[in-house]
Amino acid sequence: MSTAQNSKATTELIEAEVVPAESVREEYENLVDLVRKYRYAYYQEDAPQVSDAEFDSLYRRLEEIEALHPELVTNDSPTQEVGGEVSAAFAAVQHLQRMYSLEDVFSLEELEAWVRKAEASVKKLGNGLSNVSWLTELKIDGLAVNLLYRDGKLVRAATRGDGTTGEDITHNVLTIKEIPRELTGSGFPAEMEVRGEVFIPSKAFAEFNESLINAGKAPLANPRNAAAGSLRQKDPAETAKRPLRMFVHGIGAREGLAASSQSETYELLASWGLPVSPYLKVLGSLEEILEFIAHYGEHRHDLLHEIDGIVVKVDDFATQRALGYTSRVPRWAVAYKYPPEEVHTKLLDIAVNVGRTGRVTPFGIMRPVKVAGSTVEMATLHNQEVVKAKGVKIGDIVILRKAGDVIPEIVGPVLALRDQQDPPVRDFVMPTECPSCGTPLAPAKEADVDIRCPNAKSCPSQLRERVFHVASRGAFDIEALGWEAAVALTQPSEPAVPPLTSEAALFSLKPEDLADVRIRREKRSKGVATGEYELVPYFYTKATAKTPSKPTANTVKLFQELEKAKSQPLWRVLVALSIRHVGPTASRALATAFGSMDTIRAASEEELAHVDGVGSTIAAALKEWFAEDWHREIVDAWAAAGVRMADERDESVPRTLEGLTVVVTGSLPNYSRDEAKESIIIRGGKAAGSVSKNTSYVVAGENAGTKLDKAEQLGVPVLDEDGFRVLLESGPDGLAGRAPAAVETVGAKTMEAAE
Ligand code: NAD
Repeated sequence: MSTAQNSKATTELIEAEVVPAESVREEYENLVDLVRKYRYAYYQEDAPQVSDAEFDSLYRRLEEIEALHPELVTNDSPTQEVGGEVSAAFAAVQHLQRMYSLEDVFSLEELEAWVRKAEASVKKLGNGLSNVSWLTELKIDGLAVNLLYRDGKLVRAATRGDGTTGEDITHNVLTIKEIPRELTGSGFPAEMEVRGEVFIPSKAFAEFNESLINAGKAPLANPRNAAAGSLRQKDPAETAKRPLRMFVHGIGAREGLAASSQSETYELLASWGLPVSPYLKVLGSLEEILEFIAHYGEHRHDLLHEIDGIVVKVDDFATQRALGYTSRVPRWAVAYKYPPEEVHTKLLDIAVNVGRTGRVTPFGIMRPVKVAGSTVEMATLHNQEVVKAKGVKIGDIVILRKAGDVIPEIVGPVLALRDQQDPPVRDFVMPTECPSCGTPLAPAKEADVDIRCPNAKSCPSQLRERVFHVASRGAFDIEALGWEAAVALTQPSEPAVPPLTSEAALFSLKPEDLADVRIRREKRSKGVATGEYELVPYFYTKATAKTPSKPTANTVKLFQELEKAKSQPLWRVLVALSIRHVGPTASRALATAFGSMDTIRAASEEELAHVDGVGSTIAAALKEWFAEDWHREIVDAWAAAGVRMADERDESVPRTLEGLTVVVTGSLPNYSRDEAKESIIIRGGKAAGSVSKNTSYVVAGENAGTKLDKAEQLGVPVLDEDGFRVLLESGPDGLAGRAPAAVETVGAKTMEAAE
């Protein structure tokens, strides 16, 4: 750099410090306007227009500019004020002592720096404290209130407002049972301001929102806005309907309070009947604070209420006083904020998905956004009634919530921004034809909310979902057959006729059948998506000049796993068939009771219904399923390809119970329920769950109940464990050999034991 350039740069630097460049001033003024506007919507209207994370980053930028250009800062800058005004709808009241906001930090490094700085300041004060005690609390996502008690009586309750003046919400606060109108015990100050957070417990909030959706109304955005909206109702009767609670988190003006720390004060407040949080702790070091933060970060959703962070406070009052306040926040406390779980994003479209059973489900496609640690761009909207109740339109800015591991949810639209959207927002219209196969859609039953595609056999979407399900962990557990592979098998871009037009052919596929399968995939450049698409081979590698195309490692694994799947137990085959209501539990019960696909197929509806854990709905679904030709073809094709359709039998065990149906009830000393059933099945018998005229024997152990009565009514022979053992070893002949009376005697003995 030349000398001239050098001096020019220096002048610019000096000028930049004195007179901020026009562009900085402009950015600053725009930011101030935006922060004011968003604060108004948040505090006055309880209807935020941007997410907290977005607001926080604007606010931080404002702080940054002010730090670089202190000359821009005026007394009414948003950074100098506690955010919140007093609405004309409420009477204004002066707090006896100011209410403050909290300084926020957004990373553990920032928190550590804050704690170290505070410790250094305390040391400098030299007021005899060698170690700071940190009162560590949860940052409750609610609304701050100030309760004024005179001679133990609640005389006024107010919102925080601008910190000096709040809104009188006494009538509404009186509806919260947990807040005492009169303190109990003795020794309370003649006048005392108690500060706390009013909130709606998470569970009550979810229930309240569900009832709103069921009533066709829009759900509330989050517990904080819901609590604020509830407390700022004009009619206290309306507030009384909301499940509000409160925890104390501070103290304002007080006369003659005999406590030297905040934690001691909480103990006193609790003894006077005020609600104190069960979650707080007094900690001695940064390490302990970090542990507290990690613990509640992990258990954030197991708590009574929502939290958005942790508040760390100097516990000792003398030190608090010595550290003092800025115009907006105490210097003795800080709020560590967890990563946001609620963000705003644009709802680009609402598409529909056709599921395994033909159910058509609308889902939102959003501008990708990071929330709770992952990027989200899609979220289910369940059915058209939910779309209506949430009040979302395509093109809206929506609130998206992802709490921990929970599936992301579109909460609702940001109505204030609806008119500004370009192109204008439009209503979602449920299609009348299946987007996958063009078949007219209809509810399965007239009253159903869900709409279905009735083309179960050849709708490509339903087939794709069923193939994906065949491979799922609860069915054949084929890891190499994931979602994309299911798409490639049933809906590739090439060839026109996919390798699978029914799941019947799955187990007879050969690698060479998949050589030409291509799918459409977005091109990437250095790992970044380019927005351009190309057709790529899916199951085979791309041929090069040197190496011909060959099955990929995943394809090789797929065929190994398909081969292995052929010898999976019967219950997994049943799960894989996608029969309505037949999940792993019913499948296990069916496999245990009948042992083979053929017996299940041949069983009557009544026989099926009698199996423990099956019942009439599943029995009817099974009969309905097997009545379809193309369903039976799947089973036959799988069997022909080598899929095992019966659980293996131990041939050394004599088939003494062939053709018999046995019911076991009550507990037997030497057999668990499953062992007893298995002993029946491996000897060729059926282990049924309920007694009918088709039951051959009832085996009754201790505490046998109604099944024993039923056996008696129907005249079914009853056996105790000895009789059962004889039956297993020698069949009915063995019992007969013991003279007819033996059965009677055994039965009679059992009856006695049961009584
Ligand atoms: P704050 O909510 O970050 O912190 C101060 C408040 O925390 C206190 O007033 C008190 O009510 C509460 N609190 C909860 N638990 C507490 C505890 N254990 N001890 C002490 N206090 C506790 O500060 P703020 O000034 O009220 O609001 C700023 C917050 O509001 C930010 O998170 C910001 O994102 C959000 N905000 C959002 C918008 C928006 O448009 N989305 C607009 C304005 C503000």
